[in-house]
Amino acid sequence: MITPTPESLTALFRRTYGGAPAVIARAPGRVEFIGNHTDYNGGAVLGAAIDRYVWVAAAPLPGDGPDKPRPRSSAEQGNPAGRLRLFSANGPAVLELPSDPGTKITGSDSWANYPLGVWRSLQDFSLPRPAGFDLLVDSDLPAGAGLSSSAALELATALALLALAGKKDLPPDRLAALGRQAENKYVGVPCGILDQGTSAFGRAGHLVHIDCRGPVFSRVPFPTGAHLWIFNTREKHALIDGLYATRHQECLAAAQALGVALLTDLTPAQLPPLEKKLTPMLAKRAKHIIEEHARVHDTVEALRQGDLATVGRLLTASHRSSKHYFENSTPALDLLVDLLEKHPAVFGVRLTGGGFGGAVMALTRDNFTEKDAASIAQGYSAKHGRTPEMIHLQAADGAQLL
Ligand code: ADP
Ligand code: MG
Repeated sequence: MITPTPESLTALFRRTYGGAPAVIARAPGRVEFIGNHTDYNGGAVLGAAIDRYVWVAAAPLPGDGPDKPRPRSSAEQGNPAGRLRLFSANGPAVLELPSDPGTKITGSDSWANYPLGVWRSLQDFSLPRPAGFDLLVDSDLPAGAGLSSSAALELATALALLALAGKKDLPPDRLAALGRQAENKYVGVPCGILDQGTSAFGRAGHLVHIDCRGPVFSRVPFPTGAHLWIFNTREKHALIDGLYATRHQECLAAAQALGVALLTDLTPAQLPPLEKKLTPMLAKRAKHIIEEHARVHDTVEALRQGDLATVGRLLTASHRSSKHYFENSTPALDLLVDLLEKHPAVFGVRLTGGGFGGAVMALTRDNFTEKDAASIAQGYSAKHGRTPEMIHLQAADGAQLL
């Protein structure tokens, strides 16, 4: 994937819409460091914003917004106010809408539900928004890999559209809530605050800790001498949205049967005597969430102590729990975990993100090299037949207007 720059975005915008963009924003993807499906269960989660971004360039309709109106290209003459044009460098063609369609878009333009959802959420949040816009998206963040390109798209869009309406900043907790609302209400994915919160609060050299009850956001220094690697299977379960929603419902059902509002109201020690109230399947879901929440806490402690061996053990334990109790792993993810776990330069490894496909994240020592990554990939493709995408990542700053 080619890394976009403000210059490349401007050039593409000109080719697409015939004028220069008025604003450019970008928002990072994230890795879920630990805390698998804990967020919507009121638990804790640790994430890292990563140095792969979704970029959004935008311009107001001629005459709209605080910036000087652009000269109209011939294509723009006579376009009505309120028109929305959206284009992604990934996508087939410009989607042109005379006004808000009011319903979800299906088919190959369905990606536009994310920016449209943000635009609608701006109104829900009583924030300013442009009457219409031209919007362009480019990215070096793989979509659907569990690295949260959706939240990055939401946050970059929000910053760009706010700037078009004259508002150049928004506190990161508001920005995260806005992006989440777009995804929950307008795309229809019942995600928690992890993705948007990490993309909004990211800082170079840091992990983002979220106590999802508040939510309360804080930062924990990324450990020195450790590195993040992603191995993306490039596989995605066809029913992923439905499976995610099913897990969400199972967690709520388990909490209800246990007589608590949220599963993380219980500690790991409190669960075993109560398990008989649950079906075997719901007991597994509850065990995963309650113990995973505790593992996030233990990971923060181990990071503070600089005890990377313990951090690594917790990461790999998280994966095993996802696999056996939450049942959101896949044979491809498990194979990568098994290969990486055996490597002496790997502290720990786990699936990252919602699961049912996507990527694993490995925390490695300094001496884990491209060559080591290639040999893992080779071992994987020998058994699995496909080659994973490998990315060495840095913890990066959060969403920003450029
Ligand atoms: P993830 O957030 O883990 O990448 P999701 O399924 O939540 O996976 O979000 C992926 C979706 O986000 C894509 O299917 C697409 O609709 C949208 N998306 C992400 N990046 C882009 C992009 N560069 N251009 C257009 N749409 C994108
Ligand atoms: Mg997503």
